[in-house]
Amino acid sequence: MDCIFCKIINGEIPCHKLAENDHAIAFLDIMPITKGHFLVIPKKHFEFAEEAPEDLMANLMILATGIASATKKALKCDGINFIINSGKIAGQVVPHVHLHVVPRYNDDAICWPWPQGELDNETASVLINSIVNEL
Ligand code: AMP
Ligand code: ZN
Repeated sequence: MDCIFCKIINGEIPCHKLAENDHAIAFLDIMPITKGHFLVIPKKHFEFAEEAPEDLMANLMILATGIASATKKALKCDGINFIINSGKIAGQVVPHVHLHVVPRYNDDAICWPWPQGELDNETASVLINSIVNEL
């Protein structure tokens, strides 16, 4: 498969690996948003986070939080964003699930929050009812 992250997993493309477990691997992002920005990806290819097995996604978080904790000590960051972009409109460029772990510094240039709206009751009830059928 022509997937850049599968190639990293297979060793066809080099990376700065931080750690791995049976199901996931973590490596430094080649174009970091901030110092220490790394990615955690499943070793098995899935395109979208919401379609990947839940235990696999849990595994990504287990690896991510351990490394994030070490990052906090090593780089003395002031906070951390854990981000998954799923789908093109959400900013996903590489079609292999990946969790971004972005260390934040008090003087960095990243802006949060995104523009916010108002919660509407119809959306709430549609979503709550569909979740009952899904889970
Ligand atoms: P996304 O926009 O969520 O799909 O993010 C993809 C991320 O993968 C970007 O932050 C890229 O900088 C990163 N990336 C792409 N190719 C590589 C690579 N060969 N090694 C490390 N990171 C990469
Ligand atoms: Zn892949």
